[in-house]
Amino acid sequence: MHDHASGHIDLARLRDVLDGPWAKVRNAHREHLDERFLPVYGETGDQARERISRLLTELPVELGIASAFPTEYGGSADVGGSIIASEMLAQVDLSLMVKAGVQWGLFGGAVQALGTQRHHDAYLRDIISGTIFGCFAMTETGHGSDVQQLRTTCTYDPQTQTFDLHTPHEAARKDYIGNAARDGRMAVVFAQLITNGQRHGVHAWLVPIRDAQGNPLPGVTIGDAGPKAGLLGVDNGRLSFDHVQVPRDMLLDRYGQVAEDGTYSSPIENDSRRFFTMLGTLVRGRVSVGGAASAATKSALTIAVRYGDIRRQFDTPGADREVLINDYLAHQRKLLPALATTYALHFAQTELVAALNEVQGGDGPVDEHRQRELESRAAGLKAAQTWHATRTIQMCREACGGAGYLAENRLPSLKADTDVFTTFEGDNTVLLQLVAKGLLTGYRDEFGSLDGWGRASFVAEQVREMVLERTAARSLIERLISAVPGRDEEVAVTDRGWQLKAFEDRERHLLDGAVRRLRGGAATKKDRPFDIFNDVQDHVLAVAAAHIDRVTLEAFVAGIEDTADPAVQALLSRVCDLYALSVIEANKGWFLEHGRLTPARSKAITGVVNGLLKELRPHMRTLVDGFAIPDTWLHCAILREEPRRQETMSAHDASSTQAVPV
Ligand SMILES: Cc1cc2nc3c(=O)[nH]c(=O)nc-3n(C[C@H](O)[C@H](O)[C@H](O)COP(=O)(O)OP(=O)(O)OC[C@H]3O[C@@H](n4cnc5c(N)ncnc54)[C@H](O)[C@@H]3O)c2cc1C
Repeated sequence: MHDHASGHIDLARLRDVLDGPWAKVRNAHREHLDERFLPVYGETGDQARERISRLLTELPVELGIASAFPTEYGGSADVGGSIIASEMLAQVDLSLMVKAGVQWGLFGGAVQALGTQRHHDAYLRDIISGTIFGCFAMTETGHGSDVQQLRTTCTYDPQTQTFDLHTPHEAARKDYIGNAARDGRMAVVFAQLITNGQRHGVHAWLVPIRDAQGNPLPGVTIGDAGPKAGLLGVDNGRLSFDHVQVPRDMLLDRYGQVAEDGTYSSPIENDSRRFFTMLGTLVRGRVSVGGAASAATKSALTIAVRYGDIRRQFDTPGADREVLINDYLAHQRKLLPALATTYALHFAQTELVAALNEVQGGDGPVDEHRQRELESRAAGLKAAQTWHATRTIQMCREACGGAGYLAENRLPSLKADTDVFTTFEGDNTVLLQLVAKGLLTGYRDEFGSLDGWGRASFVAEQVREMVLERTAARSLIERLISAVPGRDEEVAVTDRGWQLKAFEDRERHLLDGAVRRLRGGAATKKDRPFDIFNDVQDHVLAVAAAHIDRVTLEAFVAGIEDTADPAVQALLSRVCDLYALSVIEANKGWFLEHGRLTPARSKAITGVVNGLLKELRPHMRTLVDGFAIPDTWLHCAILREEPRRQETMSAHDASSTQAVPV
């Protein structure tokens, strides 16, 4: 049993539930990553880069940091484990996580997914061991979200049997590229493939950029992206190529081959489809960025909740001590709904990692529908988790007052380092459009391409009949929903079936409306295809947001169903109520506008949420302790004063033994 305010909750049971199927990987990190790997506050950019580069090569082998790679090259073919590893690294140091992500996720992952056996045999071992550091050079100064329009060219010459890699103008230089400014010796470079005078769309080449002494190779210009808001330990840089000769066999040719005579062939005829199939194989990066954002959110919440249990402000008549800030309703309103959302997203992420592991871990052919569903889910949850991180870490900073602003209390670096997670691995707004497009077309052709939004009316023609696919615990969710009586007034807002139905209704209604508007637009704006989409873009984004909310709630419900310990299950069920009702509360306007809530019921929800906060108050500490973040990893000066808390726990202690109502 846990000695803090935890009622009858056995903390070990809660941790087992949250640690999930990759508990071994999580525990290996907790055991092997000591103080040496923690961030150093106040260091310069150069110091941070030097330290992170060194630490990257010192990561203990027990962590299985490159576990996603095939066993024959030294990996363990554990795709899910590699995602969990980056979540854990994110709780230690986000620069370290991102640098590792660039090396083994983006760079190594691209060689693995886009290359063929000769590339694997020649490079994977050295990539895994860190003998070769590399970059993933896709983004250009001129094109970030729309990478299909990259301007770098790679033109084949049958005479020399080499490609000519070239940056035609400044906007085509590779920008923001991790590992480029300091450490990268090679890069996977994305460019337009041209052979026999014909373009075949974006492909990738493995290109050496530095010699053994670290000097740029002839024709390669390397720049530094300069000081950044955060992630000081990651050396982001710029790359330009002046007619660099790249041997034919350095084309990563799993999806497109060029014969000696320059003949192009590919198993996928359509350029756009091929490119988005290639990108789809790189989905791992997006899944790990979402997970890492949630991991950082958990660190911030742990700090804020623990601080709120020692920090007192203002006294109250009749009490011998001032009030703990966690006892203020306003403070609970900040921390607890964010904590509930973090739990909900945790279960959604766990489900996503399992799906990724199944799709990418198997040997058999990949089911296309499942692959696209996975890409859509990865995009949506990446956006949800990174936005939640940005909002929550800021809130936690404020919840710690002035102390939250000091570097020694960790929150400033969590904030600065996770900020860009909303942008890299796909800008969140752009990712939500991918989610919506998948929903609108039922994951049919051209799903990955965004240019269809502007160019053709095909989506409006393709939009499918409305069938919402349940995502988790299908039969349980059907049962809960069908048990809801027709008249809302007869059912409590804490009824799970009612909550699920409310989420589903919102998504269905929004999707239905978007389809109607797109079809209407297609009929009246035939000559203005861009306007067909642009005029409903806000609506389309709302569909995606409602979908992600539903997927997240369904995953939470499934996770609770799988929890064996009754007390833990009861606690999670209360947290799930808080998540569901906070989402409904935040979208009250929509529910009222669409007659889904009466004004009386809408007001009642606010009261029920406040009641849940009171009920969960004694379990706040348990809920963050469930994340099992080692004390040293929090690396936070204000928490080191925590022992003083023993003498200050009075009023709060009395209520803390109360059990969770089942
Ligand atoms: C620290 C850092 C590290 C990075 N590391 C790498 C790396 O290693 N390798 C690599 O290849 N890249 C890397 N990137 C690049 C990153 O992936 C891009 O910045 C990202 O994809 C966004 O592209 P952009 O910056 O051009 O933004 P833009 O695409 O210009 O977006 C700007 C704004 O326009 C909006 N917008 C764009 N299109 C639409 C649309 N259709 N509808 C509505 N709104 C739209 C976006 O929502 C956004 O708010 C990194 C970036 C950073 C900052």
